[in-house]
Amino acid sequence: MRIALFGPPGAGKGTQAQRLVDRHGLTHISTGEIIRAAIKADSPLGREVKTYANAGKLVPDAVVWKLAKQAIADVGHDDFILDGYPRTVQQAKWLTEFLDEHAAELDAFVSLVVPDDVIVDRLSQRRTHKETGENYHLEFDPPPDDVDPAMIIQRPDDRPEAIRRRLEVYKNETQPVEDYYRRRSTLVEIDGVGTFAEVEARINQVLEAAA
Ligand code: AMP
Repeated sequence: MRIALFGPPGAGKGTQAQRLVDRHGLTHISTGEIIRAAIKADSPLGREVKTYANAGKLVPDAVVWKLAKQAIADVGHDDFILDGYPRTVQQAKWLTEFLDEHAAELDAFVSLVVPDDVIVDRLSQRRTHKETGENYHLEFDPPPDDVDPAMIIQRPDDRPEAIRRRLEVYKNETQPVEDYYRRRSTLVEIDGVGTFAEVEARINQVLEAAA
């Protein structure tokens, strides 16, 4: 199965991707995670992309495409879930061409629909474990007592200024990707408001119908 998970920042893509990985045995490909790992390692790639990512801006298309393409090739062009890619129409076009070359079209492009006010609340209350990358919500899903509070941080791009920027970037550059997949009839829209389990059940219903 080949799936892309789409939606605004804070839509729950990472959480749902992890659940789909566990249930369907897919490999999770998150360009955001690859980028954060490179920044943490202070690698040449990390130094190149740091200012974009920390400010909530998109990393240039060509740089991210190289990462995504490599990750897809590494899993033999199958059984993957893309999380956070594609984020521009150019990225989507490159992805289509590449998957077509390998006779490996996407089975579903799943878009999680979440209103802006819910997004801002989720992101501003989100905290992340420095080592594991696990996400928490200060009110609804706080870090458990046995987690060292010193390991819990706020992602630089979850600060208010960066959140506003990410939503703006999403509307201007990323949302048009939805129309691209709507025209290709691969788009599935899912209500992303509710508990993790509710949203997961909605996604699974659609994937099982498509299988
Ligand atoms: P995420 O964890 O998916 O929200 O990604 C974190 C940051 O990584 C984004 O705000 C961008 O700076 C960068 N990034 C991740 N995926 C992409 C992409 N497909 N295109 C451009 N930038 C990306």
